[in-house]
Amino acid sequence: MGDKVAILGLGTMGGGMAANLLKAGFSLTVYNRTAAKAQPLVSGGARLASTPAEAVKDATFVISMLADDAASREIWMGKNGALEAVDPGAILVESSTVSPAWIAELAALATARGVELMDAPVTGSRMQAEAGQLSFLVGGSERALDAATPVLKAMSKEITHLGPVGSGAKMKLINNFLCGVQIASLAEGLTWIERSGLDREKALAILKSGAPGSPLLSAISARMASHNYEVNFLLKLMAKDLLYAKTEAAHCNVDLTTAEVARSLFESAAAKGYGDSDMSSVIEPLRAK
Ligand code: NAP
Repeated sequence: MGDKVAILGLGTMGGGMAANLLKAGFSLTVYNRTAAKAQPLVSGGARLASTPAEAVKDATFVISMLADDAASREIWMGKNGALEAVDPGAILVESSTVSPAWIAELAALATARGVELMDAPVTGSRMQAEAGQLSFLVGGSERALDAATPVLKAMSKEITHLGPVGSGAKMKLINNFLCGVQIASLAEGLTWIERSGLDREKALAILKSGAPGSPLLSAISARMASHNYEVNFLLKLMAKDLLYAKTEAAHCNVDLTTAEVARSLFESAAAKGYGDSDMSSVIEPLRAK
């Protein structure tokens, strides 16, 4: 495959996504603030750039997978940032979970630079990123999506075009709002089960197979029950998503009161040192009370 792809950000998600681009035969350049994380990819044939600007030189597609608005702004617009160095005609794909307000600003900056931006955040987690089984939620033009589809397909099982630029970011925040609230309620529910005298496994089996059951409830309750907080999704990133969701919903005059309660649980867990653990560790401060 002749297309040159650059990926900016090799964290839990970006590392797996980059590995699948290599596997699909794309010519890949990678950049990460902490360069050591690129080592397995370099061993697999990727080039390592020392700045975002260097990474995007000659790339037809540029994908970023960064923590939040601040990280995305830094990589696109900071010193040696990617945007000033992209080739005319390149297609930019912002896959980080960021605010629709930042996507709008970045899309306008891209247009002023003569290039097109799509927002394509993902559902799925570390394992789906490693397996090339993510789902992309896309906002942007048909033209940009058609061009980028072979690249996105190498990392995903599903690509949904939701509308103009910004649509993917909005959908992603709605998705994670529901996830965050369910995880917070599960943390309280499981703490209650553990103190109630009920058999925990029997109680969880009822919840999993009953009306509240969901893939999320099954996965997160197993991690909470086993105290296994190996990172799939950082707790501090869920706190961030709930804040962005609340801000975005307010633009539609919707007050996400449940998001605010859930966010307070994630924030207080982060303040107790769980920010860099998996989000399922949100239960630990409740257990300690
Ligand atoms: P992560 O492991 O924390 O990786 C974050 C990436 O952002 C790393 O490359 C990190 O660089 C970089 N970064 C953070 N702050 C930076 C800054 N100020 N300047 C430059 N680079 C910075 O996060 P992740 O789990 O891969 O998630 C990436 C995005 O996908 C997030 O927006 C997250 O909400 C979203 N997401 C995550 C999941 C999941 O299950 N994990 C699922 C769907 C969506 P360093 O390596 O140097 O720290």
